[in-house]
Amino acid sequence: MPKRILRVNMSNLEAKFEDLPEEYKTLGGRGMTSTIVAKEVPATCDPLGPHNKLVLAPGIVTGTAAPSSGRISVGGKSPLTGTIKEANSGTPFSQMVARMRIGAIIIEGKHEGDDYYLLKVTNDGAEFINANKWFGKGLYGVYKDLYKQFGDKVGICGVGIAAELLGGNSGVCFGDPEGLPSRYAGRGGLGAVMASKGLKFIVVDETGALGVEIANQEIFKQGIKKLRDALTTHDVTKPGGALNTYGTAVLVNIINEAGGLPQRNFSSGQDSRSEKVSGEAKAAEIEKRGGQRPHFCNPGCIIQCSEVWVKPGGKDPVGVLEYESVWALGPNSGIYDLDEIGELNRACNDLGMDTIETGDTIAVAMEGGLINFGDGKGALKLMEEIRKKTPTGKILANGTEITGKVLGVTRIPTVKGQSLPAYDPRAIKGIGVTYATTPMGADHTAGYAIAPEILGVGGQLDPRDPNKAEVSRNLQLATAAVDATGYCLFIAFAVLDIPEGLEGVVESLNGVLGANLTVDDVAPIGKSIIDTELDFNKRAGFTNIHDRLPEFFLEEKLPPTDEVFNVTDEDLDSVF
Ligand code: SF4
Repeated sequence: MPKRILRVNMSNLEAKFEDLPEEYKTLGGRGMTSTIVAKEVPATCDPLGPHNKLVLAPGIVTGTAAPSSGRISVGGKSPLTGTIKEANSGTPFSQMVARMRIGAIIIEGKHEGDDYYLLKVTNDGAEFINANKWFGKGLYGVYKDLYKQFGDKVGICGVGIAAELLGGNSGVCFGDPEGLPSRYAGRGGLGAVMASKGLKFIVVDETGALGVEIANQEIFKQGIKKLRDALTTHDVTKPGGALNTYGTAVLVNIINEAGGLPQRNFSSGQDSRSEKVSGEAKAAEIEKRGGQRPHFCNPGCIIQCSEVWVKPGGKDPVGVLEYESVWALGPNSGIYDLDEIGELNRACNDLGMDTIETGDTIAVAMEGGLINFGDGKGALKLMEEIRKKTPTGKILANGTEITGKVLGVTRIPTVKGQSLPAYDPRAIKGIGVTYATTPMGADHTAGYAIAPEILGVGGQLDPRDPNKAEVSRNLQLATAAVDATGYCLFIAFAVLDIPEGLEGVVESLNGVLGANLTVDDVAPIGKSIIDTELDFNKRAGFTNIHDRLPEFFLEEKLPPTDEVFNVTDEDLDSVF
């Protein structure tokens, strides 16, 4: 059986399998979502209207034995940015969809009326189940119910209360291997797109799935061996390496040391208290109180950067506290207490919210005087406003830019409406070029210049040097290609430094697709994806003037480096 598309029409509650068109056969992940969105979604449509579509696509090698490859891309027109959007997550859900030979799930139309639905997908078809009983409920309890009802072997994807509010900071939530609602395609408000159609959950049951078709087993096995060897050798990705031991929050101390860890709504780049919420402090605390570390977000990951954070005494598992989440809900809000950050992260997961957008929103609310910087309890109360759907909660659920404007804040850290992640672009310029120019709105994963600027991976660049257009462009092209494969972006640490690792990635793709790609094809694949996205954005009304950072980054010096963002407009415009 060849790969297929599951097309779900929410207007008439019809779901049917279609043949995968010939031109989509070599696509996966972000390549698949962006191609379908660009082709099928009118660029000027209302992101929350019937003409937008939500597309979910596993990567090319997802569902195989390739290591760290269980990613799923979610795409659509973003209600937060107005641009095309791809956000991705690692989850067993993705591997199941891939093994069912479903190349993409396209959700279109809009259900009229107040009912919400759950879509149950099996190997043979799909059915709609009324989901009203889970409306307005937190996802920790709901996911428990769903696994009880459908069995612990299913994969679950869903949206929470923030999406019911059609909030721009609502994410699409995937169950982790323990069934916790903790893995998010978080960015861009794609949760609101799903909810706007009347769809709350997708449950996949892979019973009877044929598995991913591999055209050339020999070359595939050779490729994944090379990649595995690279991942188990590199200091960042190997077992016992930095990510495996401390998780992504290993970056807290490193970026703080570099003066680029934004504090209190991007008003400083360093604070000695940040150490209290570092990856090292967190790992030691997990060791003491219980929980799990290391851990993976999808079976088959070698790097295993994930964890399960718990309350003292091992209670109330939250899931992973990523670097970005720790920073956004911590230092950027003036909070330096891991338990308070854990509770805020739990609230984000429960309400179905992107932790970066939410943390930035809280920080802007603090600057706007709603509560004080450092007030963790107050921040939790703000989250309850969202749960209760009060007018304040509805404003907060719509993200950083709207909250900042409502509160009269002028220092609003967003690009194209999406809030900045955990690296201040004044101290580390290349990542600022990526924030400004990626088709996605401020997004660190789109071209992770931190690797060469701070970590010395893939070269060693001066973070203060503003000449970063080329490095950002090259990283953005490579990232778009990786996002199509289904591999976790963290494999890049190893494959940027170990050429055989990159060869292995390409060979694994050739094995699945029966293709003859070479390492030289990686950048052109990424370029074609980004060209598709830029063309969509152009048709949606975006021009170069949207590829800029907010003015305060250009004028306000960042302590302690006293840097401003001094990359010229000409350089930004030269990226694409
Ligand atoms: S490295 Fe971390 S984020 Fe990536 S797939 Fe593995 S556990 Fe998930």
